[in-house]
Amino acid sequence: MGQVLFDYTRQDATGASRTAQAWARVPLATAPAERRAARARASALLKQHNAVLVAHYYVDGELQDLALETGGCVADSLEMARFGRDHAARTLVVAGVRFMGETSKILSPDKRVLMPDLEATCSLDLGCPPDEFARFCDAHRDRKVVVYANTSAAVKARADWMVTSSCALAIVQHLKDQGQKILWAPDRHLGRYIRDETGADMLLWNGECIVHDEFKALELELLKREHPGAPVLVHPESPAGVVALADVVGSTSQLIKAVVDGTASTYIVATDNGILHRMRQLAPGKTLLEAPTAGRSATCKSCAHCPWMAMNAMQGVIDCLEHGRGEIRVPEPTRSQALGCIDRMLAFVAANPASIAQPRRGFVPGLGSA
Ligand code: SF4
Repeated sequence: MGQVLFDYTRQDATGASRTAQAWARVPLATAPAERRAARARASALLKQHNAVLVAHYYVDGELQDLALETGGCVADSLEMARFGRDHAARTLVVAGVRFMGETSKILSPDKRVLMPDLEATCSLDLGCPPDEFARFCDAHRDRKVVVYANTSAAVKARADWMVTSSCALAIVQHLKDQGQKILWAPDRHLGRYIRDETGADMLLWNGECIVHDEFKALELELLKREHPGAPVLVHPESPAGVVALADVVGSTSQLIKAVVDGTASTYIVATDNGILHRMRQLAPGKTLLEAPTAGRSATCKSCAHCPWMAMNAMQGVIDCLEHGRGEIRVPEPTRSQALGCIDRMLAFVAANPASIAQPRRGFVPGLGSA
C-alpha cells in the first residue's frame, strides 16, 4: 500500500492560514479473481453480522455495487446518515470519510458504526481544528455559527446550524432575514457562493476541498466550446470561476438527478469522478465528460478523485466486520451537542419545503450534501 501526501489550507483562531500536509494510503490494485472472492466474503459477513453497508457516491464502484446488492445504500452524506438511522440493522458499515461515520453515529447512538478505514478523512475537516474553531467563534460571538456537513463532531458541537450544499442558501437567507450575521465554516468556495447569492453578512473560514479546488475555469470554458450542447454540472465546493460556467450547481444527489432527468445526450461533470459510476448506471447511454483539473502531469490530487475516499477498500469492509475494527465513537456531551445543529437543519427543511424547492441561479433544490 503506497502513501501519498497532499497540501491543504489550515486556518487558526486568529484567522491566519497556512498550508499543511496530510497523507492518504492508496490501496493496491488486486486481480479480478481476488476481487470477486473478497466481494463474496464481504457480502457473507454483512449478512452474518446483521450489518448494512452505507456507501458514498465517491467510493470505489465495487463497494457501491456491493452496498446496493446487499440492501444497503449509495447516497450523499446526509442521506447516508438518515438511511443508517432508519434501517433495522444494528451495525452500520459506513464507506466514506470520517465525518460521515461520525454523523451516522450522532444520529444512531445505539448502533455500532464501523468504517473500512478510520483514517480516511477530508481536507475541510482537517483544515478546521475544533480548538482553533472554538476560539474563532468566541472572538465573534455576535455571529450565528453555520457549518457545512464536512466537519468533525466537535466542530458541529460548537455550531448553531449545520447545512448541506442544497439547503445552505435557504437557511442563510432565513438567518439574514432575521437580521443575523453569520460565521461560516469551513469551505470558502461554498461560503462565497452563498454570500454572493444572499448578500448575507458572512465571515468565512478559509478551507477548501482539495478535489474541487482543482477544477479550472479556463480549461472548462475550452471544453464547453468543444461540446456546446453539453450542460455543465458543478458541485459548489468548486472555485467561483467554475461555478460561474455552470448550468446546474448542486449536491451529488442533485447532479445525478440532473443527468437522469436531463434531455441532453452529453454532460460535463465538475465533481469527484467517483460519481460517474452511479451516473452511468442510472443514465446509461448518456456521455459524461469529466471537467478539467490541472491534469495528471501536475499533482496527484489533480485527478479529480478524493484520496481519502479511495482508502475505502473491500478488504477494509472484511476487516472491520471480522475483527470489529474501525468503530466510530462520539463521546458525550459532544454527540448531543452536535445533534442540536443537525436537528435544527432537519426541522427547518421539514417546515420550509417551498423555500428549499426555489431554484436560484441554477442551484438545484433538494436536501443533499457532499
Ligand atoms: S472530495 Fe473533498 S469534500 Fe469530499 S471528502 Fe474528499 S476532500 Fe472532503
